[in-house]
Amino acid sequence: MVSPVLPTYARAPLAFIKGEGSWLINEDGQRFLDFGAGIAVNVLGHAHPRLVAALKAQATELWHTSNLYRIPAQEELADLLVQMTFADTVFFTNSGTEATEAAVKMARRHWHSKGCPQRNEILTLKNSFHGRTISMISAAGSEKLTEGFGPLTPGFRQLEPDAIDEIEAAVSENTAAIMVEPVLGEGGIVPLADGFLKELRELCDRTGLLLIFDEIQCGMGRTGKLFAHEWAGITPDVMAIAKGIGGGFPLGACLATEQAAAGMTAGTHGSTFGGNPLGCTVGLEVLKIVSDESFLERVRSCSGRLRQKLESIAGSYPAVFSEVRGSGLMLGLVCRMNNQEVIEAGYRERILMIPAGGNVARILPPLNVADAELDEACARIDRLAAKLAEDLDA
Ligand SMILES: *Cc1c(COP(=O)(O)O)cnc(C)c1O
Repeated sequence: MVSPVLPTYARAPLAFIKGEGSWLINEDGQRFLDFGAGIAVNVLGHAHPRLVAALKAQATELWHTSNLYRIPAQEELADLLVQMTFADTVFFTNSGTEATEAAVKMARRHWHSKGCPQRNEILTLKNSFHGRTISMISAAGSEKLTEGFGPLTPGFRQLEPDAIDEIEAAVSENTAAIMVEPVLGEGGIVPLADGFLKELRELCDRTGLLLIFDEIQCGMGRTGKLFAHEWAGITPDVMAIAKGIGGGFPLGACLATEQAAAGMTAGTHGSTFGGNPLGCTVGLEVLKIVSDESFLERVRSCSGRLRQKLESIAGSYPAVFSEVRGSGLMLGLVCRMNNQEVIEAGYRERILMIPAGGNVARILPPLNVADAELDEACARIDRLAAKLAEDLDA
């Protein structure tokens, strides 16, 4: 008999009932170091006092009005995002996939409003992930996401990362935009080279295409800059964000330049819940904390410390790990043995990591993780690697 909860997840047999900073506590009172942060969501850990206070205060005032009316917290969050980024305007959603959907709708509508409706094809990269709606699995295109869910949405074409010539050759009078993750997350923590991102920007400038970045996972301070594309010194025309922006409250957004958003006039797009007072109040608090330059500087120094230790561990256990890669506090341990076995060994040492493509164990701690917690996490990973290596020898 099917379980009351649709069995679409291969869940670990763990249930957490409380969170404190970088720690999750299960039903038996055992404490786990949370180095998955709810898939890069809990950027400030669990139960951050400023987020709790903001949510509690808003909860006693007003939860929901719909977008039929002005929402002051939404306006304030949009103002701040506009001030801090390339964007001139923001559409709010409840999730990542709605943000990438909005980005694609915006790109198509942009060309429609310019009298070129045939320019509707979106180029994406192989091995990418943009969410789970029919259109976003069509955008990513991998068999793993799309099998059995056809017919798929037409108008997407997947190309090899880093192959700028191949991408340039694919641009035609039907192309509307290029959409990429500056650091591939689900695909296995693969940062795109700064040079490649610059080439994409130049290609879009030359051909008029819109450049869309999906920073749902790599944005919000994760790489040590507020947004990952800042490392390459370029900006997109449209950007989808989610995950970290709500710090655990469901919130996403599609940011755009005025020019890119030109087709999105009243009545063209909407959401019942998107940008509600609860989400935006929390998001505002998250953004104020994470965008602080000294906060981001600390993410960068933590990254250096963590990466160095992980590289030393990977070097010590070559039968378990082959490589450390990633950016900031978005790191991947490339596994030699099955990554799921490594993740499960983590449960036994009470450290949470997340599997990703390319046989990777993802390491995504809260961005405000303490130095001692980084050291403790590395001690646990060292221990699990030692045990796995021993089992392999036995
Ligand atoms: C998680 C993720 C999404 C989808 O976000 P949901 O909130 O699960 O819809 C899209 N793109 C990237 C890069 C992601 O990491």
